[in-house]
Amino acid sequence: MTAPEADEKDKSGPVAGRDFIRQIIDEDMKTGKWGGRVHTRFPPEPNGYLHIGHAKSICLNFGLARDFGGQCNLRFDDTNPAKEEVEYVDSIQEDVRWLGFSWDDRMFYASNYFDQLYAFAETLIEKGLAYVDDLSQEEIRAYRGTLTEPGKDSPYRGRSVAENLDLFRRMRAGEFPDGAKVLRAKIDMQSPNVVLRDPVLYRIKHVEHHRTGDAWCVYPMYDYTHCISDSLEGITHSICSLEFENNRPLYDWVLDNLPVPCHPQQIEFARLNLSYTVLSKRKLIQLVTQKVVSGWDDPRLPTLSGIRRRGYTPEAIRDFCERIGISKAENMVDMALLEHCLREDLNRSAKRVMAVLRPLKVVIENYPEGQVEEIDFPYHPEDASLGSRKVPFTREIYVERDDFMETPAKKWFRLAPGAEVRLRYAYYVTCTGVVKDPATGEVTELRCTHDPATKGGWSSDGRKVKGTLHWVSAAHAVPAEVRLYDRLFTKENPTEGKGDFMDALNPDSLEVIPEALVEPSLAALPVGERVQFERLGYFCVDKDSTPQKRVFNRAVALKDSWAKAGGR
Ligand code: ATP
Ligand code: MG
Repeated sequence: MTAPEADEKDKSGPVAGRDFIRQIIDEDMKTGKWGGRVHTRFPPEPNGYLHIGHAKSICLNFGLARDFGGQCNLRFDDTNPAKEEVEYVDSIQEDVRWLGFSWDDRMFYASNYFDQLYAFAETLIEKGLAYVDDLSQEEIRAYRGTLTEPGKDSPYRGRSVAENLDLFRRMRAGEFPDGAKVLRAKIDMQSPNVVLRDPVLYRIKHVEHHRTGDAWCVYPMYDYTHCISDSLEGITHSICSLEFENNRPLYDWVLDNLPVPCHPQQIEFARLNLSYTVLSKRKLIQLVTQKVVSGWDDPRLPTLSGIRRRGYTPEAIRDFCERIGISKAENMVDMALLEHCLREDLNRSAKRVMAVLRPLKVVIENYPEGQVEEIDFPYHPEDASLGSRKVPFTREIYVERDDFMETPAKKWFRLAPGAEVRLRYAYYVTCTGVVKDPATGEVTELRCTHDPATKGGWSSDGRKVKGTLHWVSAAHAVPAEVRLYDRLFTKENPTEGKGDFMDALNPDSLEVIPEALVEPSLAALPVGERVQFERLGYFCVDKDSTPQKRVFNRAVALKDSWAKAGGR
């Protein structure tokens, strides 16, 4: 398991237990830099569904606002109309809300600022700080130079302010086709920081925007838009991931050269990398469009809609984000930590119920035919407030096929010919016979006897049994489909090294068990509800459920089954 990153950082920090961003804000509060204000934002681009990496950013930005009595905005960074969709805008809002955060009335779109962004671009032109360039995209790239070679000035760099203004206005008016011209900042083609070599501010795109329709055919670039949007919203601390470190001088350059209301501080932190999965929208889109998974909410995906469907709780995800902490060092977090957080949460809150995945029939020969005993089962062994329900016990039941061995291995405490086990909360039973399919030799049924003196699952004569099995009554069981999930990739880091990350897909990431049986109390369990199937793991009712057949996703297996612990 990965140690929380924050620990290392905090040893040297001035305030114990504070990550480096909170330390910066502590200091700002002391000096009164922002007049006691903390205002952050979460700025997704609506070009895909949010994933667990975004949850880290959401918990950080909304968490800072919460901890410092400030505010956090939700802002859609919708400057790239070709890739953005309303479906994504809706899913992002749903996910942020589900995680437990609220932007109140502060939901914004970068596209809200298109007029102001355009006016500021004219201001830069008027100040001689931006020019219209006719070079093609490839030429611009070639002129830019490399990390070791300086760039070259574009032949159009010397255009007059008047000419630039005229051309920019005509770009906006739609006189030129896509790619014919761009607006660039005039900074320094020799700068050691490649980002500052006259970055593009505006490009021509004759594409409809999902919010502004066909009002625009020039669209501002991310780096230019982001800092101005932050400033217009009065953001104090603009938190972004590490890959924007080199862009910070550009963020500052734009704001320093424009009459904007304030100049937020950009702070970078390391993004989340999680083992055995991918956290990049581009790669996730590939998995979805190539139908490797069933959709954005496939329970194997690290998307928030996927892990929600899988059975994850917002509490578990927030706990996870807190444990991994915030630092400037890139690392890989073990998927096991995420699972651990879910197990901890569901161990507290999930009701314990019984389900048999691969049923094997058991006939209790000395139990009266037609008799139904309603046994009271508590929903949680340690939390009586979760209540209890009645579970019917009858002469014919089903147990897990895996819980029987005809020729038992050493230390086999479950069913075997002649062996006595406990049926959870019911009786001790002893296996007296095995019925087989004469053609295949497969075991099709067990014959047992029960000891009526062990009612409730315990014996008054002190006789002990080591195995405790879960079971369902044959006449009352409800059919269910159960889906078991494994890691989506076989490699810890699927994108590492040569080759396509798709080659590292785990062919066995989904196992469907079509004919499981669950206890009757689960017949009407609503979609999204989570329970513990005793000894099998935590499960969540899937949206594919029908009145005829409930579908359950396994969120996570149990670390310890109570069979080992020897529960009743
Ligand atoms: P992706 O790489 O998945 O496409 P992105 O950075 O392009 O992600 P945005 O919509 O721009 O996606 O992200 C919104 C915010 O979420 C940004 O501030 C970004 O830094 C943050 N973010 C994205 N991925 C992660 C991650 N893995 N860990 C932490 N923060 C992330
Ligand atoms: Mg991005």
